[in-house]
Amino acid sequence: MEQDYEVVVIGGGPGGYVAAIRCAQLGLKTACIDAWRNGQDMPALGGTCLNVGCIPSKALLHSSELYYQARTAFGAHGIKTGGLGIDLAVMQARKDKVVEQLTGGIEGLFKANGVSWLQGHGRLLDGTRVEFTPHEGEARTLTPGHVILASGSRPLEIALAPLDDEHIVDSTGALGFTEVPRRLGIIGAGIIGLELGSVWNRLGSEVVLLEAQEQFLPMVDGELSRHALKILGQQGLDIRLGARVLGSEVIDGEVRVSYQQEGEERSLAVDRLVVAVGRRANTEDLMAEAAGLVLDERGGVVVDEYCATNIPNVYAVGDLVRGPMLAHKASEEGMAVAESIASGRPHGLRLDTVPSVIYTEPELAWVGATEQQLKSLGTAYRVGSFPLAANGRALAMQVKHGLAKVLAHAETDEILGVHILGPGASELIAEAVLAMEYAASSEDLARTIHAHPTLSEALHEAALAVDGRAIHRVNRR
Ligand code: FAD
Ligand code: NAD
Repeated sequence: MEQDYEVVVIGGGPGGYVAAIRCAQLGLKTACIDAWRNGQDMPALGGTCLNVGCIPSKALLHSSELYYQARTAFGAHGIKTGGLGIDLAVMQARKDKVVEQLTGGIEGLFKANGVSWLQGHGRLLDGTRVEFTPHEGEARTLTPGHVILASGSRPLEIALAPLDDEHIVDSTGALGFTEVPRRLGIIGAGIIGLELGSVWNRLGSEVVLLEAQEQFLPMVDGELSRHALKILGQQGLDIRLGARVLGSEVIDGEVRVSYQQEGEERSLAVDRLVVAVGRRANTEDLMAEAAGLVLDERGGVVVDEYCATNIPNVYAVGDLVRGPMLAHKASEEGMAVAESIASGRPHGLRLDTVPSVIYTEPELAWVGATEQQLKSLGTAYRVGSFPLAANGRALAMQVKHGLAKVLAHAETDEILGVHILGPGASELIAEAVLAMEYAASSEDLARTIHAHPTLSEALHEAALAVDGRAIHRVNRR
């Protein structure tokens, strides 16, 4: 059968659009099918990340942090602000503009690289045959040589708190509030709960987070998660751990949530409730039964280390497959698959050096193993840590909290994990990722010259501290 495209990508989020652009750059005739429609009911590229995820959340985190700083920190710098207030409509419009600019930018990149943007729904039929149903018009069948599935994920819903898109909402709803809720409840003190909880707390909401687990952020290094819990609590986030939600109802415009904590039944009344309990892969209506695509127990697509599915020439990337649900991980997988297809040689990526960031203030960023993981694996390791309070730049910036921590193998000194709590941790972690990619030792990091005065010197000192050589603190041997 004649091939219309060499590659068809289903999904235009950071996994799919990056894969499509890279395929086109490598000379493959490529189409990207994407079903997204934005708030104005217009097709938009960029998927969850650009439309209702990474980008709008960071826009609001930045705006709300500026307000919070003006309210709480400017005085100490001798800056007088006079009457301070919020125009939420302006704040939201700025966020929407950032989103519009970026999603429009992907459209421009598609044009420049010759990627065909097929607006509508894609479905894998069998082999590499794909059915494309445009938003308007008849379905047609495409017969590409390769298919990349990149349909992403959607919020998990729970029957105990059904969404009504007004009082009980998901993360998308919580990004679009047109008024600052006086009382905001959030089910789930995970990444979304903490980031969006921070936004609305800074803007004036009383925020209560109900978290089912007893342990706060179990994937984060225990020392950092304990610090973060304390700091976020001081900022006003009321994080209730071990809180099992029993039910919720909307009565007279308020949401009443009942939950169990410490063996007692308790209740919470809020004006808005956000459900942020995780996300699940978008596999509904992604493939016909005849496709025979193998899924895992969580409903994601099973792939090998090269993102190949069980069907020859069909790949899957991003939130749809195993590994962390992160935009940069999705994009790198998209890139690797494009290069595998073009070169005919499988190209993989390391999942153990994917960095994670929680964009609270202070930020939490990490790569590699935590101390608790190394302990449970029985790996012999050494720790070096350095408090930001002892870093000159941090002091100049009025940073009170934070920590950089390096974990290195006790015998080989190879860096096994780096954990940072502090402003700019999202940027500082890149150095640690690069070091781990090159299997650097803590000694390598310790012997690398860092500019002064910078926050990166805290990471340098943490690497020095692995061997008891930190200069600006007393070393414990
Ligand atoms: P998606 O971005 O979900 O894109 C999938 C696309 O495929 C969508 O456009 C969808 O409409 C389309 N699609 C689905 N099915 C079909 C079909 N059958 N036919 C055609 N099109 C289809 N990650 C970070 O790394 N950093 C962050 O700061 C961050 N912040 C976040 C904040 C929030 C509030 C949320 C919700 C997520 C955040 N994430 C963040 C996660 C990040 O958004 C995802 O990991 C990322 O978007 C996954 O990319 P993807 O390409 O796999 O899927
Ligand atoms: P999450 O897994 O980070 O957190 C969900 C939390 O909800 C967990 O702590 C879980 O224990 C809790 N929970 C689950 N069911 C519950 C219940 N019934 N009652 C109370 N608590 C319950 O998921 P999320 O915050 O929804 O975010 C989804 C994913 O999106 C993240 O895992 C991440 O991959 C991605 N994301 C990344 C960023 C970032 O990179 N900065 C930001 C936002 C989202």
